[in-house]
Amino acid sequence: MDYEELRDFMVRTQFIPRGIQDERVLAAMRKVPRHLFVDESIRYRAYEDIAIPIGEGQTISQPYMVAVMTELLELKGKERVLEVGTGSGYQAAILAELSRDVYTIERFEKLAKEAEEKFRALGYDNIHAKAGDGTLGWPENAPFDRIIITAGTPKVPEPLIAQLAEDGIVVAPVGERFSQQLIKVKKSERGLSEEYHTMCVFVPLVGKYGWDRE
Ligand code: SAM
Repeated sequence: MDYEELRDFMVRTQFIPRGIQDERVLAAMRKVPRHLFVDESIRYRAYEDIAIPIGEGQTISQPYMVAVMTELLELKGKERVLEVGTGSGYQAAILAELSRDVYTIERFEKLAKEAEEKFRALGYDNIHAKAGDGTLGWPENAPFDRIIITAGTPKVPEPLIAQLAEDGIVVAPVGERFSQQLIKVKKSERGLSEEYHTMCVFVPLVGKYGWDRE
């Protein structure tokens, strides 16, 4: 299969017609080999408009959702980004193409380990990964210019707001268990402001400041 061609087709048919405009985001999504972040048996579907199971009951998000969330982060190239919910590692790789350093946390050890192996194999030495409860953030490396939560949460966890730099942005799916809305929170000297975007459905953020169970 010509994966490069499939990626270009994905960008032209799934992202551009639905309003993704940031050329840097489109270029990163044309570049990162999403098929290497899913099981070999399902690689042929890697560039379709779907979420795909990755084990432990979790999924790699629909590519369009990755594009939307990444665009909302307004990355220019020098940011330190925290991702909560490493999953397959695909979103972290996209972020690593567009920012200086990516810190990513995954609740399941097995997924965290597999993602780290992929980062190493693909040469992403600006991604720092660990297993743990991402709702607590990563205080040793705070503050972060950008924070992205890739699991559905009842609210943006307080420790993450505390670890956000001034002029920072958080993007997260916030709402009910089986239905959320993407929210973009900006922190400025005047306080926090919120913008609401598309509806979405993510697996739950399970942790001290998220849901208390699957
Ligand atoms: N960003 C991922 C990717 O590119 O494949 C997709 C993430 S998947 C939709 C959500 C992930 O969040 C799952 O792997 C899940 O285990 C993880 N997760 C849920 N709660 C978490 C928590 N408290 N801390 C860290 N990861 C968490």
